Amino acid sequence: MNKRRSQPYVPVFVAVIGVIVLILVGYSVLPSSDDDESEQSGDVTPTPATARATATAVSEPTPGPEPVRLTDEELQAYQPNELGKVLVLMYHRIDHDAAPDNVWARTPDQFRGDLQWLYENDFYVIPIRDYIGNEIHAPAGKRPVVLTFDDGTVGQFRLIEQEDGSVAIDPDSAVGILEEFFSRFDDFGRGGLFSILPLAAFAWPDGEDQLQYAETKVQWLIDNGYELGNHTVDHIDLRDLSDEEIKAQLARAEDLIREMAPESEVSVLAVPFGMYPSGGDTSIFEGWEHDGREYALQGALMVGAEPAPSPVHEDFDPMWIPRINADDEQLDRWFRFVEDNPGIIYVSDGNPDTVTIPEDLHPWLVDTLDEEKAGDREIIKY
Ligand SMILES: [Zn+2]
Repeated sequence: MNKRRSQPYVPVFVAVIGVIVLILVGYSVLPSSDDDESEQSGDVTPTPATARATATAVSEPTPGPEPVRLTDEELQAYQPNELGKVLVLMYHRIDHDAAPDNVWARTPDQFRGDLQWLYENDFYVIPIRDYIGNEIHAPAGKRPVVLTFDDGTVGQFRLIEQEDGSVAIDPDSAVGILEEFFSRFDDFGRGGLFSILPLAAFAWPDGEDQLQYAETKVQWLIDNGYELGNHTVDHIDLRDLSDEEIKAQLARAEDLIREMAPESEVSVLAVPFGMYPSGGDTSIFEGWEHDGREYALQGALMVGAEPAPSPVHEDFDPMWIPRINADDEQLDRWFRFVEDNPGIIYVSDGNPDTVTIPEDLHPWLVDTLDEEKAGDREIIKY
């Protein structure tokens, strides 16, 4: 498995803040060649986490990696609730011709409207690996949201040849719409999981002319803070397969994606049709061998049907992550649910090293914290 945890999605301003922190805090020890001090310099080099935490208090940079805690006033202002539910949205086709009642397709304008609603309601796009690993880097007061796209349809990512022979991203494809939105709102986060069918990446169902760009697109996504998910090779119902066939489908899909973009993690499976191996047995997902190579998934995604639990909620199981289908009926329902029940929704404290939970919890969340899932993170109740 590729264990590299590259984080290209961290916004540029965090890197800038990191450099400022490095200059303010770490500069004095960095140039030293003394052994003890160079060890210290390793401690003060800002990671994205400490840089982010420090970004909330730029005027008073924190010396060293000590995480910044919110003041009482900030807790009241931001109302963090890291036991709340996270929206994981599931998209399929993005298509001009989508009928309004097509539950598997969204028009470009519908998709723009979804993003606009999320932005206006304080959501912040995070990568799914951060949700699964409980490394949520959303700023204090923001509600994390994960965007997922299944099947790698042509409308999700289309390249258009220009007169000079270069190619440009179709501004009406999902990636074009996301890029335009992310560039306009730098406080909206960044990311998206594309669980593709690697033999028809972003060419399904009728975009054969786009197949020539498959590798370019897959590599571009990895280079620009997006993630690639496994969706098997043949979009096959796992209930119909033997264990060996399941292992082969998952391994081959991962290998094919890695051939296009070697550094992609491919550690999350969008389970085709939401149909798990028979009996709901996810033990293969946890780790398997195929053709002498070892594989493992960090998470698996269902099809439907509700907001997902916080990574520290007793119900959280990374192999059973619920998603909300992006159709008018489901989005209307769950967007209204968010508006009516803000106390159920996850609100970040801006610090991935702490788990901040209000004492006055919504009844649905009372006694649902699984402290073991918090690991080394400090639990703060207010
Ligand atoms: Zn699918």
